[in-house]
Amino acid sequence: MSIARQLYQLQEIDLEIADEEGKLEQVAGRLGKNEVVVAAQEKLDAEKKKLEEWQRQQRSLEGEIDDLANKIKASNDQLYSGRINNPKELSGLQHEVELLKAKCDQLETKDLELMEQVESVETSAVALKQELKEITLEWQREQEQLRQEKAMLESSLSDLKQQRQALAAETDAQVLALYDKLRKNKGWAVARVEQGICHGCRISLPSSELQQARSGALVQCGSCSRILYLP
Ligand SMILES: [Zn+2]
Repeated sequence: MSIARQLYQLQEIDLEIADEEGKLEQVAGRLGKNEVVVAAQEKLDAEKKKLEEWQRQQRSLEGEIDDLANKIKASNDQLYSGRINNPKELSGLQHEVELLKAKCDQLETKDLELMEQVESVETSAVALKQELKEITLEWQREQEQLRQEKAMLESSLSDLKQQRQALAAETDAQVLALYDKLRKNKGWAVARVEQGICHGCRISLPSSELQQARSGALVQCGSCSRILYLP
């Protein structure tokens, strides 16, 4: 194998390693992140809190209604007990009962409104609970998939790194140093040559360079310095 071909293979492996490392970083970044689940849980908690508040208001209102009903009953009992004979006192008591009844009607209307509110929040809480369940299941599925992807990438990376090590071990140390330097400076070190053109810089190569490269010697592009590889 020519030295250029060997370096080209090394580069293919390095590009693949970089690609897989990028993917691994993405996968690792998504593992354990559960913002969607937390957001759905918070939404449900907020709705439950709202429900408790409406229920508390409803209980307090119903307590008031009970108190009023008791007062109305007590006044009515007094009114019809036959113990009050004074007409002024009687009409005063009657008036009081009417006022209490009006107030009671008002509160009952409000109670109906509150009941509707409570029902609507209850329905919405049930829907949010279902949503949270689905989101959690979906998240668990996704996490499992990510764990598998991570394991696959790690195993493939370990293979690639072994391949790289073996290939690098076969390569002359100076040549390897040149390759690493070019890779660091230019992103990639080896350029394919097709139809006499360097694919690193798109420049037509002089025939002397082409001939040298064809003979298997290590030749760098006169323009971009990359190592020329004739497939
Ligand atoms: Zn070039």
